[in-house]
Amino acid sequence: MQDIDYQACLQEIYEETKHLLGQGKVAEYIPALAEVDPNQYGIAIHTLDNKTYTIGDAETPFSIQSISKVFVFSMVFKAFGDKLWKRMGREPSGNSFNSLIQLELENGIPRNPFINAGALVSTDCLFSLSKNPLKDILNFVRSLSNNPKIIYDSVVANSEKDTGYRNAALVNFMKSFGNIEHDVDSVLNTYFHQCGLMMNCIDLAKAFCFLANKGINPFNGDSILTLSQAKRLNALMQTCGLYDESGEFAFSTGLPGKSGVGGGIVAVVPNLLSICVWSPALNKHGNSLIGMKALELFTTKTGISIF
Ligand code: GLN
Repeated sequence: MQDIDYQACLQEIYEETKHLLGQGKVAEYIPALAEVDPNQYGIAIHTLDNKTYTIGDAETPFSIQSISKVFVFSMVFKAFGDKLWKRMGREPSGNSFNSLIQLELENGIPRNPFINAGALVSTDCLFSLSKNPLKDILNFVRSLSNNPKIIYDSVVANSEKDTGYRNAALVNFMKSFGNIEHDVDSVLNTYFHQCGLMMNCIDLAKAFCFLANKGINPFNGDSILTLSQAKRLNALMQTCGLYDESGEFAFSTGLPGKSGVGGGIVAVVPNLLSICVWSPALNKHGNSLIGMKALELFTTKTGISIF
């Protein structure tokens, strides 16, 4: 795999997919995201031998949304380990990311950490660890992406706060089962801010490299997760990272990945690299329409797959 020409590969993918700009829809249920120009498209690859390859709008920051679920989950997985599985499961939900249906039947225990309910539980767990969760999340992602300039977009966070009725319902519902320990408004505020983190494709490709690198941040040698935890987190992304399109993503791309309704998708090739694609227009499952196609082409053209 060492002799793949990643730059040429990105060029080919870009040429073969850019005609899809104009298809799909930006996330209209969050007013601040409804205003994003859908005609943006970038890709970045960061390899474990510390090379970055980019094309298109790879340096434009965007709202990472659900991709943040991986960061906060990593923080609490490191601290709580297998105790977390009392409060969330590790099965795909087969339902949309903000669905309430299973929670009633399953006693307020979310199916997995990568649907909204599971992410709200992770954020609640962080309050047991940290006096200032927002500051700690920011420091964590800055260190993982080796970029001290990453910030929260409070306009996006407040826009979600104003309209986040489903997330408010999820957190209150789980509180009624005793699966939220802290103040619901504080948990929601932190969750909306983590979703409003602004990062570009390069930041995200770098920030996911620890998952390709056996749990170790390649930029400073910090142990983020144990080898076993890193493998498990990759398995969770493989099975649950793209909500009710996780099966299709595994089928067509063959890599662990995580998406967000800001239009980003990050995928991990263990022991080799991480790749982030961003284009804000989404398909009906809430995943970037172009991102799905671009990542499929990436693994088809390179022959890379975990299978
Ligand atoms: N902030 C979004 C929400 O809670 C995140 C969803 C997503 O990216 N799928 O609805």
